Amino acid sequence: MADKMESREPADGAAVNAIPQHLEDSADSKLKPKKEKAPKTPTPLKGPTPLRPKALLPVKDLPVDPDSMFKNGFLADVYSERPVGKDGIHKVVTRFPPEPNGFLHLGHSKAIMINFGFARFHGGDCYLRFDDTNPASEEEKYFTAIEEMVSWLGFKPIKITHSSDNFDHLYKLAEDLIQRDGAYVCHCTKAEVVAQRGGSKNKPRYACPHRDRPFAESLNEFRAMRDGKYKPQEAVLRLKQDLENGNPQMWDLAAYRVLDSEENPVRHNRIGDKWKIYPTYDFTHCLCDSFEGITHSLCTTEFELSRVSYEWLCDRVKVYKPMQREFGRLNVSGTVLSKRKIMKLIENACVRDWDDPRLYTLIALRRRGVPPGAILTFVNELGVTKAETTIDIKRFEQVVRKYLENTVPRLMLVLDPIPVVIENLRENHLEMVELPFSKDPAFGVHTVPFTKTVYIDRSDFRETASKDFFRLAPGGSVGLLKVPYPITVTGFETDPASGLVTLVRAHYEKPEEGATFKKPKTLQRKSFAPNYPHANLSSYIHWIADCPSKNSPVKATVRVFNPLFNAENPDSHPDGFLAVVNSKSEEVYSNAMIEIGLDEIKRRAPWPNLEGERDIACGQMGPETVRFQGMRVAYFCLDRDSVDDNLILNRIVSLKEDAKKA
Ligand code: ATP
Ligand code: MG
Repeated sequence: MADKMESREPADGAAVNAIPQHLEDSADSKLKPKKEKAPKTPTPLKGPTPLRPKALLPVKDLPVDPDSMFKNGFLADVYSERPVGKDGIHKVVTRFPPEPNGFLHLGHSKAIMINFGFARFHGGDCYLRFDDTNPASEEEKYFTAIEEMVSWLGFKPIKITHSSDNFDHLYKLAEDLIQRDGAYVCHCTKAEVVAQRGGSKNKPRYACPHRDRPFAESLNEFRAMRDGKYKPQEAVLRLKQDLENGNPQMWDLAAYRVLDSEENPVRHNRIGDKWKIYPTYDFTHCLCDSFEGITHSLCTTEFELSRVSYEWLCDRVKVYKPMQREFGRLNVSGTVLSKRKIMKLIENACVRDWDDPRLYTLIALRRRGVPPGAILTFVNELGVTKAETTIDIKRFEQVVRKYLENTVPRLMLVLDPIPVVIENLRENHLEMVELPFSKDPAFGVHTVPFTKTVYIDRSDFRETASKDFFRLAPGGSVGLLKVPYPITVTGFETDPASGLVTLVRAHYEKPEEGATFKKPKTLQRKSFAPNYPHANLSSYIHWIADCPSKNSPVKATVRVFNPLFNAENPDSHPDGFLAVVNSKSEEVYSNAMIEIGLDEIKRRAPWPNLEGERDIACGQMGPETVRFQGMRVAYFCLDRDSVDDNLILNRIVSLKEDAKKA
């Protein structure tokens, strides 16, 4: 039998530089005086904002109304059609119907939000229905992961159902249909069926020799199929549709096929070996929608042609007919989403597993630390139309960055530390310095030790001073974030073998008792931070003190993720997507240091900690909810590989889009 007839697819349808990239938003530009902006309040989860045409707007100006996708465009139009529900009930009922044969990806979040969100917005119900009609490819782990992801995104199904719940009912309707001359058992080969349907060259279509057999005979044969007389492909129940119709979905689609044989026994995940025959997607989907009283069967546009067969079947078996409407898929560029391709990436060790943070499966995005609210914001801002959209992955990152900006706390983190010994401080110098967790005072403050030895990032020091480098260099001065006075470099040491700087010596510019503070020359030249020493946080470099008595620093391994592919469209490469895998997609900093404020951040997680934050709603407090901005570096979260004395951090997203790639 033709694959198309049986499948779910509709028939014939359609390096490393001296300064790492993540540090390029360096102090060089930030040291320039900057007006302190009023602290922003976190993006509200509710509350309408006036809408403006989206296409003309940069991401930051997109509407923040989290329900805008339901109020405008496709979904508003669909709602205005107001179909009367089953039994005359006026309530929106939708379903999200995944096949439990893989992990969900970013594209699915659109379908989840459309179905669950639309129902919630209109005070209706949404089912999570597992479309489990292909037992060979279904596994328990997929059921669990799908359920978890729906809940992680903040949605609660009114009920979890399975197509297989209805197998008895579907079978009965199939027998009824045969008796009403609406279906027949066919024994043609795959090639024969293709030819009957006009073949690849669109030749005239013709009926199968079994089409006109008496329906009593078809009924017997159908029961024989059920009872194991036939092997797969030897007999198929086909719908008796309309070969004259221009729509291929009307050319006698398969309704039931034999999947079980002695050589390949089939065991269904839930119902075991009860059935040897299984209904196809085309037969199952519309009828399960009907049984559940779905009012709006919302699916992607590749099912547009299927709408005709969907309605035909509901009418033919005389059941309630839901309204199917189709929206455009969400594709993202610069990555691959298909299960088969992700499997290849895992097999070739390009990524570790399905939840490798370089992937765009939902489990990978969660592990990477992307908050569910950011995904919802992204989908909402894109809006819904019939057009299939391919979105640059950078746009997604931009939304994530924006979402994190005001919702997670800030900490100092040094990726590649070098010690700075402040020679004029006493060995046991210990001063507690107060740091705010955010520009937003609501996040509170904490203190960190300042001692004789502090660590700074290697990229914040250069062995030779130059006019365009305003961080630490011999003879130069710089402020350490929130430390009252600046430090001036007096010398440094290098490792003769590697040539790398191993230690910097500095002088703390604290005025003598009774004297007034004079800005060091370099600072005067840049005239930065006029209200120094209590200036704006971002005017200085970050640092972490060596202070064992305060457990500082906290050591960590940081994984920085770069794009997995060196191509916008990995699939279009003539040698296949594996040829453009980026060998530097993961950079590991194994000696990173974090300031001790991390402890409080861990205690107070999840972040974002907004009222209504989805993480809280579903009680899932994974390590990834410990999110923070590493000041001047990037956004990070804890990885699930972390153990108490060996923290692993994932970079969620950089602070700014890399200018070269933008
Ligand atoms: P894939 O082949 O990418 O795994 P699928 O269509 O086989 O996707 P299903 O498990 O059938 O995945 O998906 C469940 C629902 O999600 C379907 O209604 C499908 O239309 C929708 N969906 C799948 N991919 C996307 C996407 N990229 N954008 C929007 N909706 C999608
Ligand atoms: Mg599928």
